[in-house]
Amino acid sequence: MRIFCIGRNYAEHARELANAVPDSPVVFMKPETCIVPDGESIPFPSHGKDLHHEAEVVLEIGRAGKNICESDARNHLRSIGLGLDLTLRDIQTTLKEKGLPWEKAKAFDASAPLGPLIPVTEDLDLANIHFTCTVNQSVRQQGHTADMLFSIPTLVAYLSRIWCLQPHDLIFTGTPAGVAALHPGDTIELTGPQLPRAAWTLS
Ligand code: ZN
Repeated sequence: MRIFCIGRNYAEHARELANAVPDSPVVFMKPETCIVPDGESIPFPSHGKDLHHEAEVVLEIGRAGKNICESDARNHLRSIGLGLDLTLRDIQTTLKEKGLPWEKAKAFDASAPLGPLIPVTEDLDLANIHFTCTVNQSVRQQGHTADMLFSIPTLVAYLSRIWCLQPHDLIFTGTPAGVAALHPGDTIELTGPQLPRAAWTLS
């Protein structure tokens, strides 16, 4: 199983980090060992200081596919939920400046908290999913999949041209604006009308 992550998929978030809006999806990966199930505590990483929450809709592949058409993409999805692409922004900024890979900023232990997943049913409109990230009960991020630069079917099709997607692969679909720093003791909660709630506490 692999974890694919999409960067800069919401224009306002790209702007808040002074990044150009991309003309094709920005893709990076995290190892499976980064996942933290709902409710567990997240250790604050020791190799950086500026830990940011990035709330994201997460897709799970159910059916293998290479060169998937956008019109067929949802048939390859099994389930969907909410997760966090935790990012050490200070480390990432240094790596970006030097043109180095992002793993130390994005793919460290416990960097992929993953909430419960529910089946992708026929009545779920993938372009109309709302989600909210709160930290200590104050709202930090509000996302709507209609605002994605690259829609869910486009992402599945795009990734499948490079990698043969496999059952259980996960796709973190990018974060909306509002990313900000976390501190030990913070409780991060993800909610949305269509997707299961999830929460974690930083230790
Ligand atoms: Zn992200």
